[in-house]
Amino acid sequence: MEDVKKIRCPFCNKEFIPPTIYPLQNFHYDGRSATYPLKDTPSKLMTEEGFFPSKIIIVNWITFCPECGFELKFIKEIVNKIKKTHINLENPNISYEKEEFKKPFKDYSDYFRDVEFILKEDISYDLIKDTLKSLEKIYLNSDDFKFLIKIIAYLEDYYNEIKGINNKYMPEKIKELNFPEELEDSLINCNALRNNIVHKNHEMTIEEKELIHNTYCQIILYFIKSTIIPIVDKIHNQFKFINKKNILEEAGLIISPFLNKLFRDDKDHYNRLDKIFLSLTEDFGLKT
Ligand SMILES: [Zn+2]
Repeated sequence: MEDVKKIRCPFCNKEFIPPTIYPLQNFHYDGRSATYPLKDTPSKLMTEEGFFPSKIIIVNWITFCPECGFELKFIKEIVNKIKKTHINLENPNISYEKEEFKKPFKDYSDYFRDVEFILKEDISYDLIKDTLKSLEKIYLNSDDFKFLIKIIAYLEDYYNEIKGINNKYMPEKIKELNFPEELEDSLINCNALRNNIVHKNHEMTIEEKELIHNTYCQIILYFIKSTIIPIVDKIHNQFKFINKKNILEEAGLIISPFLNKLFRDDKDHYNRLDKIFLSLTEDFGLKT
């Protein structure tokens, strides 16, 4: 990856990444001769060499200094006179050869394309699949109660893997995992619900069923965020002038089809996740 290259304004010396560098046409060129724009008269193009100058800039690259507004121009297309005969305005018999120049500096959208490229290399379907550690399958063939039991069992396994097996109570274990507050509360509530059903023969309400499904989505999002945010931070560190929100949104767009694939058999959770995920991209970098 090449380095970020800034332009220095010749007027105020400010160094900047141009928001945009766009082509601006100076002359129309039909492949043989240049025609004058209305504002220019033929006399304006006269040089000591004759009526037709040896070089005409057909198209410029244009950008502006964000500090002082100075207009910076670079050549994009130039025509060089290659044959000069008698001077005759009606039938000049002069031909020009076109030469083209690439954008001299990358602008914001060029760098953003680099960012998209790195994101697509770094965020793969396999990465998201590994991140979820088969969590995407636990809803299948389960009623709500079985689903709840599986979530708690998954949590227990996850805890054991990180902290080791011990006899602590589940709420304590949940707290030790340092989840975001909202997820921690949901998991503690899910655990209490599980105990109420198992020990007190409690009948699940609609709100409690909703709690289970939402908690499940929250866990998945938490794992995805934990994997994605370091990637976004790394890229943002390299391209500090790119808005982090835009990088997060782009990451969200890459992940969305992966979620679709992983939750193919579970449209309900896919729809919930996708909605939450896209609405979270704006702030998920700030929360973790
Ligand atoms: Zn300037």
